[in-house]
Amino acid sequence: MLVVMQAHATDEQVRAVCKRIESMGYRAHTIPGAQRTAIGITGNQGEVEPGTIEEMPGVAEVIQVSKPYKLVSRDLKPENTIIKFAGSNASVGGTTLAIMAGPCAIENREQAFAAAEHTARAGAQFFRGGAYKPRTSPYSFQGLGEKGLQIMAEVRERFGMMIVTEAIDNESLDLVEEYADIIQIGARNMQNFSLLKRAGRSKKPVLLKRGMSATLEEFLMAAEYVMSEGNYNVILCERGVRTFADHTRNTLDLSLIPAVQRLSHLPIVVDPSHGTGKRNKVTPLSRAAIAVGADGLMVEVHHDPDHALSDGMQSLYPDQFDDLMKQVRQIAPVVGRQVSAGRTQANAQPAAAHS
Ligand code: PEP
Ligand code: MN
Repeated sequence: MLVVMQAHATDEQVRAVCKRIESMGYRAHTIPGAQRTAIGITGNQGEVEPGTIEEMPGVAEVIQVSKPYKLVSRDLKPENTIIKFAGSNASVGGTTLAIMAGPCAIENREQAFAAAEHTARAGAQFFRGGAYKPRTSPYSFQGLGEKGLQIMAEVRERFGMMIVTEAIDNESLDLVEEYADIIQIGARNMQNFSLLKRAGRSKKPVLLKRGMSATLEEFLMAAEYVMSEGNYNVILCERGVRTFADHTRNTLDLSLIPAVQRLSHLPIVVDPSHGTGKRNKVTPLSRAAIAVGADGLMVEVHHDPDHALSDGMQSLYPDQFDDLMKQVRQIAPVVGRQVSAGRTQANAQPAAAHS
């Protein structure tokens, strides 16, 4: 159930409705919107009896939501969610595209700095890189752990980029939460419900990657898990699904973007690196992703991909990333978007204060 407040409802009236919901044993989620505040109700097994809520001062209407996801739904919040970052002008979900770039894994300081310097100059405001790597083989490089997170924190200091990095379990999430600006939950963990709930109790935005075989509804329900714990800053990421096609590592499902945007207010970005697994397909599919209306891109870039410790085949050379950005800059205005100018000595801002 969803309570829609009147446009002029006071904070006190909103609080009174929340209190009533909580006294019924449910959880109230207050979601302020441009026109009105909505209050989502979770914790109920079946239908909630609207009871006297409908009659309370400030309430416009009480709506029964038929879909299994509520907090991710546009019914609750008709306008797009825009995620902002304190001390930075970067955002996800607004008119400026969120460009996240960097290596698959943080390997050492020099490698991370080489990628960050180049991608920041080209216009990426977010630096990606794994300190904890979910690898198919236990014998493959597993990531540098906390040392990798420390290197990423240095990247933020030096280049002013926002840091996106993956937590693979509850323990790594505790550390990732301390260092990162965005906590990534990987495809393999999209239905790790205890990890989703833990991420939902964090104050940091969560980037949730689509599971390799997840339907649209399963993907949205995973985001609902995070939101149901009180973290409303969720970024969805399409990264390809497994199909019979074997010319690419995964099949990048760009039709998901408009499908998600129809149902949900959450931003969605596209990862054409894992989505194709092949370097030569990353730029064409980045163009397509922006054209289809994605809110941004997550792209793997390495200064020496032939010697990368993971995902070298799909990592762009730095100059290929420049080309990608040039092309994205041309397409962006066609779909009402823009791209950050890129960091130069002249416009370098001091790094964001970090708590
Ligand atoms: C990654 O982004 O480094 C990653 C492991 O991606 P995915 O979870 O989509 O495979
Ligand atoms: Mn990778």
